[in-house]
Amino acid sequence: MLDRTELFVDGRPTAAAITVPVVDPSTGTVVGHGPVAGPADIDHAVRAARTSFEDRRWRDRTPTERAEVLRTAASLVADVRDDLTELVITQNGSVHRFAHGVQAGSAQDLLPYYAELALTHLAEEHRSDPVGTSVVVQEPIGVVATITPWNSPQRAMLLKVAPALAAGCSVVHKPAPETPLDAFVVAEALHKAGLPAGVFNVVPGGAEVGEQLVAHPDVDKVSFTGSSDVGRRILATAAGRIARVSLELGGKSPAVVLDDAPLDDTVRRLAPLAFLNTGQACVAQTRILVPRSRYETFVDAFATHVRSLTVGDPRDPATDLGPLATPAQRERVEHYVAIGRAEGARVVAGGGLPRHQTRGWFHEPTVFADVHNGMRIAREEIFGPVVCILPYDGDDARAVSIANDTPYGLSATVWGADAARAYAVARRIRAGRVGVNGATHATRAPFGGFGQSGLGRETGPEAMDLYLEPQSIAVAGVRGEQ
Ligand code: NAD
Repeated sequence: MLDRTELFVDGRPTAAAITVPVVDPSTGTVVGHGPVAGPADIDHAVRAARTSFEDRRWRDRTPTERAEVLRTAASLVADVRDDLTELVITQNGSVHRFAHGVQAGSAQDLLPYYAELALTHLAEEHRSDPVGTSVVVQEPIGVVATITPWNSPQRAMLLKVAPALAAGCSVVHKPAPETPLDAFVVAEALHKAGLPAGVFNVVPGGAEVGEQLVAHPDVDKVSFTGSSDVGRRILATAAGRIARVSLELGGKSPAVVLDDAPLDDTVRRLAPLAFLNTGQACVAQTRILVPRSRYETFVDAFATHVRSLTVGDPRDPATDLGPLATPAQRERVEHYVAIGRAEGARVVAGGGLPRHQTRGWFHEPTVFADVHNGMRIAREEIFGPVVCILPYDGDDARAVSIANDTPYGLSATVWGADAARAYAVARRIRAGRVGVNGATHATRAPFGGFGQSGLGRETGPEAMDLYLEPQSIAVAGVRGEQ
């Protein structure tokens, strides 16, 4: 059994208010328990973070010293990467290639990167003009509350925690109660590496715990990943004290297939992006736009490919789709499949529960054809293995206008034989991240959303700016004439 009853507060394990069962989504059986914070735990964690920030035990370390701690922690997490992979799969059912490649690899990817960036990005600058001279310094923003969802527990956490710690902030991290265990691996590695007590605290919990954290007067900044609805609530709460907020929210990402896109190659490369993490990914390419002249051919080829995907044991590296993370997630998917049918869309692959899976929360990868952009299944984020294929008439501009007809704007892809033409289409799509022909993005490029997909950018130097307050200091007679 995987049993943990302690939070991590002020540099040590502390007893949690309650524990919740950890259920393996591939079998539906309870495999352990994880800790959940109560109101007193949250207060304790925020106070510990505040004290560590005010007495400057971390922010006064030089960037070089901070970098050393982050690098050492990354290598400690790397030593247990396989165990961490298993922990992620057990909690949320992510398939092995996602759990190992993306989740359990995040500490190695992001901690050394921000360690390096701390050495250059925080340097003070002198700016002069005829009016005067200012020294511009970058101050850590203060106590940061990081709140993340269950679908991407390691990466969503490290996208925030790595730049925040590199910047010199103190952090209270709240994982979702569905994934209450894996963050402690990183907390323990950071402390073993020399992070001072109180600088990084882990308090898993649900909506109430999150709300308390967001409303806490000693939290200077909230960095949130999750649904747009919760993002809106967080902004409203933070507005009262003008607390800083950055948001990574939902998406309904369009994949624009141009009339010259090679059929088989496009289908083969696009399908894994549409069903990424069994569709439980904010960047899943779930709205595929295809020219009407090629529509039926594309629908047939895509549906045939999807029917050949392997649905099953998430621990098997050959598996394409695992279970949904929770029974509620599967119910949500079934609900949207029923909505799609009622709206008149045509199911061309999947549409139900896989017959060969008698346990766990599996759902067939499902493809709807004959979808138009006004349908709920084309407008609302389903967050499961359900993809819509929409026909478009006319030229590329028409496809772009349908792609942009969404409240979201997180991610998109464009597919075509002529890379220059596809790039020109990409430039007109209102989304934070656009890939052409399945190209992999540099981790160092900014990631985040236009519109209701978010506020601010993670990854790259842009993410470090989310945890800094620029300060200008002008000193008469020392730094220049005033
Ligand atoms: P959610 O918004 O319900 O929950 C996310 C986190 O917020 C959890 O830790 C949850 O406990 C907490 N929370 C819930 N209500 C809260 C409240 N009122 N105040 C403070 N915290 C609260 O999201 P979810 O359904 O668990 O996750 C899926 C969503 O996350 C999808 O919309 C998905 O697109 C989004 N997501 C976005 C990104 C991104 O980078 N843009 C990445 C992953 C997931």
